[in-house]
Amino acid sequence: MTKYIFCTGGVVSSIGKGVTVAAIGRLLKSRGLGVTAQKLDPYINVDPGTMSPYQHGEVFVTQDGAETDLDLGHYERFIDIDLGQHCNVTTGQVYEEVIAKERRGDYLGRTIQVIPHITNEIKYRIAQLARDEVDVVIVEIGGTVGDIESLPFLEAIRQMRKDVGRENTVYIHLTLLPYISATGELKTKPTQHSVKELRAIGIQPDVIVCRSDYPVDDDIKEKIALFCDVDKQAVVPLITVDNIYKVPLILADAGLDAFLVERLGLPDHGSDLNDWRELVAKIADPQHTVRIGLVGKYVQLKDAYMSVKESLYHAGIANDAAIDIHWINSEDLEKGRNIEALAEVDGIVVPGGFGYRGIEGKIVAARYAREHKIPYLGLCLGMQVMVIELARHALQSDEVNSAEFDPHVRHPVIDLMPDQQAVVNMGGTMRLGLYPCCMTPGTLAAEAYGVERVQERHRHRFELNNAYRDILARQGMVFSGLSPDRRLVEIAEMDDHPWMLGCQFHPEFTSRPTRPHPLFKAFIAAAREHNRSGSREDPQSQKPAK
Ligand code: GLN
Repeated sequence: MTKYIFCTGGVVSSIGKGVTVAAIGRLLKSRGLGVTAQKLDPYINVDPGTMSPYQHGEVFVTQDGAETDLDLGHYERFIDIDLGQHCNVTTGQVYEEVIAKERRGDYLGRTIQVIPHITNEIKYRIAQLARDEVDVVIVEIGGTVGDIESLPFLEAIRQMRKDVGRENTVYIHLTLLPYISATGELKTKPTQHSVKELRAIGIQPDVIVCRSDYPVDDDIKEKIALFCDVDKQAVVPLITVDNIYKVPLILADAGLDAFLVERLGLPDHGSDLNDWRELVAKIADPQHTVRIGLVGKYVQLKDAYMSVKESLYHAGIANDAAIDIHWINSEDLEKGRNIEALAEVDGIVVPGGFGYRGIEGKIVAARYAREHKIPYLGLCLGMQVMVIELARHALQSDEVNSAEFDPHVRHPVIDLMPDQQAVVNMGGTMRLGLYPCCMTPGTLAAEAYGVERVQERHRHRFELNNAYRDILARQGMVFSGLSPDRRLVEIAEMDDHPWMLGCQFHPEFTSRPTRPHPLFKAFIAAAREHNRSGSREDPQSQKPAK
């Protein structure tokens, strides 16, 4: 029997529910259990694919090509599993399905209502994740208790306890204990109110995880246990940390996984967190600092680059280096401002993106990296930018661009594939999810991967235009990764440069703290090499994996 852990949030949003769920997943996996995780998002969009990064942060792409919430990235990184499209459910998807069924006549003329039709559809999507190899499904409900939008989801998880039994379900509620500096106390009242709100809709939490910036003493735990009617050992403080990878250890030390295993009647094989403890120890004591310039148009909102940021940190851990990310606004570079920022870094990353805004600034960054021989990693759009820059140089022309930004440009070095054009004109979609890539021997890419063929996750419409391959090759560009039929350039790199490489896919979605992605690892090694003087004077001053 698959067990379910439901995680809700209270008091305020953005207190780390996704990381908490991911950390609980890690703890259960470290006990030898089969774990999967799911995010229920109460917004009405069908998926976050079309939402602005300002609204939503990064769009995380799964191997089966779903555009999902960035919390799935946390789950994959912490639990070290590959999730799929069923692991993110939105109100939009649920209503879309129920309305389609109604139009088909599946409900035989009944009145369609939130309860039971919408809640049944939600429960169906949760239960879909229960398979033989899955001992525990951890379900995170987005938003905070009290939001109108999340009510159907909360009602669905309330019913789940009735459906599958109390012994097979746990409700975890994550809250915040605010600190009042005038009196120097942590307050439990918002937690009490939030639990009251949950109870009003029929959910009594079994565990309360309390985020706090300050230590939580026994009296506070007792008070929460009493007022919220949970066991004292089920009140779990989660103190703010400088590095999210510490969270599983904090929860384990508080006994949360032991409590869950007992409460759910799961076999207790003990826990092996040695790898994880080693990882956290390594992060705390780096021997080097590597400064990486991340050039993007959403740099004010770091969540927009969540997986890129984490992948850099993972590669830093493998290279014994703290990563100091310099966030560089591409629109500044475009206007000729802040160019000096590019001189202050050991490596430059241009991440993925859509739309023309900020592109010329990214081209400035690619040119700077090429001319000054600074290690460069281009991710999807970052590869396209590297190609546009080199082609402008090769053709000594400004009439070079991606057809995305200028459909009638004279030299569309980045373009739709001919067989794709008809589809896109009809409003077709993107190349999404896993596609194979074969390495060209003797290249940086082949060396980094150490294997001949890989599968990587994609999310883009445009490709390198094969008509320009020769012109680019004459300027020193090497096509080091190709689709098996050789029609699509998947990786391009520069010879006569210490390390300049762009990939058409998104390696950031598959990097894990204990298994950094090979391209990120090689890039950080090159950046470390680029500035040997980056050797640490004060190892404590930079902290990775914030
Ligand atoms: N906008 C580009 C394309 O659609 C790149 C997409 C991306 O970086 N994910 O091809």
